[in-house]
Amino acid sequence: MSVERVGVVGAGTMGAGIAQLAALAGFPTAMHDPDPGALATGADRVASALAKGAGRGLWSAGEAAEAASMLGTATELEQLASADLVIEAAPEDLELKRELFARLERICDESALLATNTSSIPVTRIAEPLERPERFAGMHFFNPPALMRLVEVVAGDRSADATLEEVTRVARAMGREPVRAADAPGFIVNRCNRPFSLEALRMLGEGVASHAQIDAAMRMRGGYRMGPFELLDLIGVDINLEVARSFHAQRPIPRWEPHPIQAEMVEAGRLGRKAGRGFYEYRAGRRLDPEPGEASLPAAEAEAIVERIVAGLANEASFAVDEGVAAPEDVDTAMRLGLNHPRGPFEWRDALGAPNVLALLEELAARLGEPERYRAAPALVEAAQASAGG
Ligand code: NAD
Repeated sequence: MSVERVGVVGAGTMGAGIAQLAALAGFPTAMHDPDPGALATGADRVASALAKGAGRGLWSAGEAAEAASMLGTATELEQLASADLVIEAAPEDLELKRELFARLERICDESALLATNTSSIPVTRIAEPLERPERFAGMHFFNPPALMRLVEVVAGDRSADATLEEVTRVARAMGREPVRAADAPGFIVNRCNRPFSLEALRMLGEGVASHAQIDAAMRMRGGYRMGPFELLDLIGVDINLEVARSFHAQRPIPRWEPHPIQAEMVEAGRLGRKAGRGFYEYRAGRRLDPEPGEASLPAAEAEAIVERIVAGLANEASFAVDEGVAAPEDVDTAMRLGLNHPRGPFEWRDALGAPNVLALLEELAARLGEPERYRAAPALVEAAQASAGG
């Protein structure tokens, strides 16, 4: 089984980006969307991205023209019949995805591979009604696909090894860095990044620092491109709350409990950039609030903020590894490439020292009276003991 022709279903934010990658990798690519307007917009976006990339020297004008010639649009799903890998990037709806894959199984050759770009629906659940679930897998790209190098390759219960190997090869051919992830809530990145916003919201709720101080500390001391509240405003406070609720519904544990501030913000219409106000105020897309200087928080306090959030990240990642979601080095790679984090959670753990991370979590559990929320993962306790013993 060797993929030569690619189909992409959905020409939105993700579909258009994935189609661009496939065409640039030299795969004849057909992109389908049932909405003719969305299909035309998606095709225009790819054409303009190819031209811009050539202008910025990312590839030559010849390569851009070659990629453009590889990409075709399909108003009907049936036009994807000759694809031997179809990547679905349609709306995040279980029934819609199941129906699409049932149709694709009838339309495409029996040997064709099918992949979903879902971010939150278990791959195994999408595959349940399929006739050939062994030819199905998750290929989770990150937004924007052309810039974010990570692809999480997710095995459903019945995905065949050969399928996983081939979609991994295709992801590499597209210039991406594939990592294997188990079919668990949020796969690697979305799950391991839970504490980035949740712990920041808890600190804000406790009055430890203002949102602007926490953001400044995370950028200037932690090396993050954006602080948690800047990111919440960019993503949309309402979207983030929906994701937080979906995680908590899948597993109602205290660590994943949404923070009341999120619902209050949504209630008040403070949805972020798109609403002109979130944690910050915006006019014509520009932030009005002044940048807080690093001096706004004493250095030791800024450091202690940063440490509390990255301790949360290291702990969540340790739980994920304990549960077999991925190997530690893959978690680090995924968090750096999927989210542009300056360090992966295990790199943070080692930089701070596992015994210090453990001590911080124990201190928070005791001080806030929340032993379950700040319980350390067995892998973290082991790392702390090994480090202390060595
Ligand atoms: P989007 O809304 O930008 O695009 C979805 C496209 O699907 C639209 O163009 C729509 O017309 C089309 N569509 C609607 N019904 C369809 C159908 N029956 N068949 C085919 N296409 C149909 O959404 P998106 O952000 O590109 O997300 C697509 C998928 O990718 C979702 O599963 C989402 O969870 C996942 N994802 C999104 C992101 C992100 O940051 N946006 C990141 C990773 C994964």
